[in-house]
Amino acid sequence: MKGVVFLGERKLALQEFKDPTPGPGEVVLEIKASGMCGSDLKLYRAPLGGGVKDLAVKDLSAPVIAGHEPCGVVAAVGPYVSEAQARVGMRTMVHHYGGCGVCKHCRSGWSQLCLKRFVAYGITEHGAHAQYLKVPAATLVPLPDELSFEVGAAISCGTGTAYAALKRIGLSGRETVAIFGQGPVGLSATQLAKAIGARVIALDVSEERLALAKGFGADVTIDPKKDDPVQAIKELTHGEGAELTMDCSGNPDARLAAIRGTQTWGTMGFVGEGDKLTVDVSTDLMRRQLTLVASWTFSTVGQAECARFVADRRIAVEKVFTHRYRLDQAEEAYKLFDTQSTGKGVLLP
Ligand SMILES: [Zn+2]
Ligand SMILES: [Zn+2]
Repeated sequence: MKGVVFLGERKLALQEFKDPTPGPGEVVLEIKASGMCGSDLKLYRAPLGGGVKDLAVKDLSAPVIAGHEPCGVVAAVGPYVSEAQARVGMRTMVHHYGGCGVCKHCRSGWSQLCLKRFVAYGITEHGAHAQYLKVPAATLVPLPDELSFEVGAAISCGTGTAYAALKRIGLSGRETVAIFGQGPVGLSATQLAKAIGARVIALDVSEERLALAKGFGADVTIDPKKDDPVQAIKELTHGEGAELTMDCSGNPDARLAAIRGTQTWGTMGFVGEGDKLTVDVSTDLMRRQLTLVASWTFSTVGQAECARFVADRRIAVEKVFTHRYRLDQAEEAYKLFDTQSTGKGVLLP
């Protein structure tokens, strides 16, 4: 089979790999959709292996197949996999992490927090930018019949991350929420927050992405290059700031503006990865009784819950995909994604 490999410094290649066969407890999926996530850009841009190191996991000697938003159909089942876990032909997403399976975090569905090891498919092990993917049966999260493979791919990282973060900051629908960064995760957060009933202020430095945010129901859009974002949020919230804010960009200025654009007793959520933050603890946090929340992806249970929510509310998650590609168009796909002006891309092998 063929798979997409990041070679470092914005180079990638479609390489030939042996078709995987499932070992004990494993399944092989035929990939139907493999989403492109913002964190893939970090891996794509970094020197070979450097992106993985930046995500504070490990050094990689040989590149692995990229893609950590897998969705497809079970093609083969290994020994010791029960009928209840997986059947050939089953439509499924993948919770794209593997842990020891027995520590407290693995048992609660948070294998990315495993006390023993860190495995992420598409980052430390082969991922889904390929025709087939081998994973432990325990990582499978069944795809509701109502949802397409593309939507399943989005929920497997970007949209699932947005859903989990909105829950973590306590969005009820009564609030105004300001969402910094309207890339794939931020756009999903805008769409889901609207579905939950909130008033959404969407911020991004890209005109194109602000236009997408409008299409996803954002009540107001702000370009921080043109208008002071803290000032603009305050003007929209009777001078107080938003009850809830969230940074999906990972940009230090955006993080600080999100904190300063949050009203007293409000909550700010960190969602965008990487980089740092300098903050005046007294003025910006303590004297405004702020709550800061850091939210990293979701559990297997959270992923299933997000899928159920999207299906039951008939949320058009597929709108987040502005570009669709074949595997052999991966180079073109990442070149465009690298401009950070588009919605999400998906590889349909
Ligand atoms: Zn574990
Ligand atoms: Zn991701």
